[in-house]
Amino acid sequence: MQRKLRVGIVGGGIGGLALAAALRQNGLEPRLFERSAAFGEVGAGIQMTPNAVKVMRALGLFEELRAVSFLPQNIIGRNWRSGRVMWRTPLAEDCPRLYGAPFFHVHRADLHRILAEQLLPGEARLASPCVGIRQAGNTAAAVFADGTEFEADVIVGADGIHSIVRRELFGDEPALYTGNMCWRAVVPFDRQPLDFVSPDSSFWLGPNGHVVTYYVSSGRAVNIVAVLESKDWVAESWTTPSTREELMAGYAGWHPNLQKLFSNVTDTFKWGLFDRDPMPGWTKGRATLLGDAAHPMLPFLSQGAAMAIEDGYVLASSLAAAENPVEGLARYEALRRPRTARVQLEARERGKTYHLSSRFAQIKRDVKYFVRSVINPQTTGLGANWVYDYDATTVQPQLQPA
Ligand SMILES: Cc1cc2nc3c(=O)[nH]c(=O)nc-3n(C[C@H](O)[C@H](O)[C@H](O)COP(=O)(O)OP(=O)(O)OC[C@H]3O[C@@H](n4cnc5c(N)ncnc54)[C@H](O)[C@@H]3O)c2cc1C
Repeated sequence: MQRKLRVGIVGGGIGGLALAAALRQNGLEPRLFERSAAFGEVGAGIQMTPNAVKVMRALGLFEELRAVSFLPQNIIGRNWRSGRVMWRTPLAEDCPRLYGAPFFHVHRADLHRILAEQLLPGEARLASPCVGIRQAGNTAAAVFADGTEFEADVIVGADGIHSIVRRELFGDEPALYTGNMCWRAVVPFDRQPLDFVSPDSSFWLGPNGHVVTYYVSSGRAVNIVAVLESKDWVAESWTTPSTREELMAGYAGWHPNLQKLFSNVTDTFKWGLFDRDPMPGWTKGRATLLGDAAHPMLPFLSQGAAMAIEDGYVLASSLAAAENPVEGLARYEALRRPRTARVQLEARERGKTYHLSSRFAQIKRDVKYFVRSVINPQTTGLGANWVYDYDATTVQPQLQPA
């Protein structure tokens, strides 16, 4: 009997965990290595768009996800100062009909827990920072800080934007600061619904910045992502503490509903937003990249985790369908690089559209939003219908003949 293909995963974030679940579902053998001593996720929300929900359903995790989700009614674009609705993309009824799955808002910690609970005993090793990759013959090995190694048929770097695996395979090229900084906060409320937060994903567009607000935790909390252009920011981190006062000062003059929401913030963090240009390849020999390690992107289409989840599913099915791991990795790249590159580049473009400062350019943009709303509300605002439509669970690779 042929032995199971063994896959070593470096990084236990959303992408690494989704890959582990998909590998096991395909009868392959995952082993995951996480540098932190305990699994945990930052307190922040995440928009699970229909393309990501389709993968969670294929992994058998739909009910778990639904139980902790909030179902938004629409994506709404609003003027930063007046609150005027610039576009409305219906979600609650339309997403299952148009894209084959709902659109959910969840707390990152809930999503991470649902995925981590799928790990079997002994499948993950914590407190294991990877420091290098070694390849020889038909194997690859992850090397850890304590000097131990794990040898496998394939090693996957799912170790985030500052990936060590990426550095080992392709050299040290730092991520690019995009000129945007961001605050994030989750505000729990005893009383729902709130009269100053509608049950939507609200995009408040202003000059040189935007704010996104939505309910998470089945509606018991509101997630805030507040982005401002800033030349000075340099550190990329999940954990640079900030204050409510600093957040409110950044948005002086914005709509009173936002100010009221911000005034309820107790804990907030800020960090710089970084991305990279799409890479010409992710794989060397028997080692490859996934998620932010392969294609970090601005959060303006809400797709970083969704892309990592799609990657995990496609990588597992490509390895399972291939004659050998090298062919499987080629299938994976052929399927995933074009899609993730498009999302990376379009997310950058959205930033420019959201943050226009000239009054004339804003009017031109708003007229375009309005015309598109009338023709087809799914193509206005974020214009992400092509993102949501994709189904990672059914795609087939288009391989170039050898
Ligand atoms: C403001 C903001 C809002 C966002 N909103 C959304 C959204 O609404 N929807 C969405 O889909 N995405 C969103 N994203 C993007 C999303 O958070 C990321 O793209 C996603 O978490 C990437 O997952 P990952 O598993 O690739 O990497 P990560 O989540 O960074 O996980 C990497 C893991 O690897 C571990 N690790 C790192 N180095 C090593 C090492 N050397 N050895 C072992 N382990 C290591 C880390 O500890 C971590 O656990 C947002 C991002 C930001 C900044």
